[in-house]
Amino acid sequence: MKKRIAVLAGDGIGKEVTRGAVEILRAIGERFGHQFSFSYGHIGGGAVDELGTPLPDETLDLCKESDAVLLGAVGGPQWDRLPVHLRPEQGLLKIRKELGLYANLRPTLYYSSLAEASPLKREVIEEVDLLMVRELTGGLYFGKPSERMKQDGQDVVVDTLFYQKAEMTRVIKLAFELAKNRRGHVTSVDKANVLESSRMWREVAEEVGQQYPEVTLEHMLVDNAAMQMVRNPKQFDVVVTENMFGDILSDEASVLTGSLGMLPSASISEKGPYLYEPIHGSAPDIAGQNIANPLATILSVAMMLRVSFGLEQEAKAVETAVDEVLNSGFRTKDITSVETKLVTTTEMVEEVKATILDNETIQSIMGCYA
Ligand code: NAD
Repeated sequence: MKKRIAVLAGDGIGKEVTRGAVEILRAIGERFGHQFSFSYGHIGGGAVDELGTPLPDETLDLCKESDAVLLGAVGGPQWDRLPVHLRPEQGLLKIRKELGLYANLRPTLYYSSLAEASPLKREVIEEVDLLMVRELTGGLYFGKPSERMKQDGQDVVVDTLFYQKAEMTRVIKLAFELAKNRRGHVTSVDKANVLESSRMWREVAEEVGQQYPEVTLEHMLVDNAAMQMVRNPKQFDVVVTENMFGDILSDEASVLTGSLGMLPSASISEKGPYLYEPIHGSAPDIAGQNIANPLATILSVAMMLRVSFGLEQEAKAVETAVDEVLNSGFRTKDITSVETKLVTTTEMVEEVKATILDNETIQSIMGCYA
């Protein structure tokens, strides 16, 4: 199979983790006989410095011509004081809007070898397997007006939470579709006791739910969901929610796996290409030190192989290699504990790569799909 992948490394550790993920894709290509080609584009603070905009048109064109997009992360304190339209995060919001990436899928899986890295008790997180489906192109992050002004001589500010019913319907429908192939349970998160937008969200969830009698629908208020996520996360299968609630809850869910550095994501559009990225940011505090955890980005390319390219055994090979490396005790600093082997970003990538290229391990996976 031949595929073109746009790589937008971005800022901070984005560069380090995408470099590693590209190496893993090359190893998969070598092991399974695929040709992946990589084209690089600017995004974020680096793009502002070089080209005066956080998302140059050339980057957008490159993405549109590609079969999938791999993104690192954007942002950093040196760009925090720029005018809003030049902030690195605007590049992210714009690429989501321009590529129509309306849903962000964030799986959270329990790794028994990492139980000690989580601040939660093993019995709380054991066997957690949840999928967060976050609406990505509407809500508070995109609504207009979003500005400060004067009212009766006072400084006031407004942000706008705007949704079309169709935007709610398509993301909730996607959540039900995904639940059909999982444990058949959707938790729809809202704030229907206070917000009109949430009351409409709940009505739409009910409407969509009627088309899926085999899936159970449960509504949960966002404040309760935040509490349940750490009290009893095993109750969740698919969680679907609007943009800002999903942003917050999915970072909270990362605590279940021990580190932000373990959580991958896929952003889905109606026509493609889809975009894959770790859920963490550019981590300026550790950038350039070769200590970032590359596994969230590596697991994001596993999602790319499965969702965009339909390469299930290749995706499984990446996930199995990550599992094996963790079971062998290799850890980057964020997930290290006593009796583990501390490795750098590049060493972790090398371990995963060596496992993928190792005949015995991958042969058994190939056998399963023969
Ligand atoms: P962050 O995710 O960058 O970092 C939070 C903490 O987690 C830091 O202590 C960091 O060192 C650690 N961390 C994150 N990823 C890690 C990894 N792979 N390995 C080891 N440790 C890791 O969030 P932040 O500090 O709030 O934001 C930093 C910058 O990133 C800001 O400019 C923010 O706007 C931006 N950001 C970008 C994205 C994105 O590009 N999608 C997402 C979130 C934040």
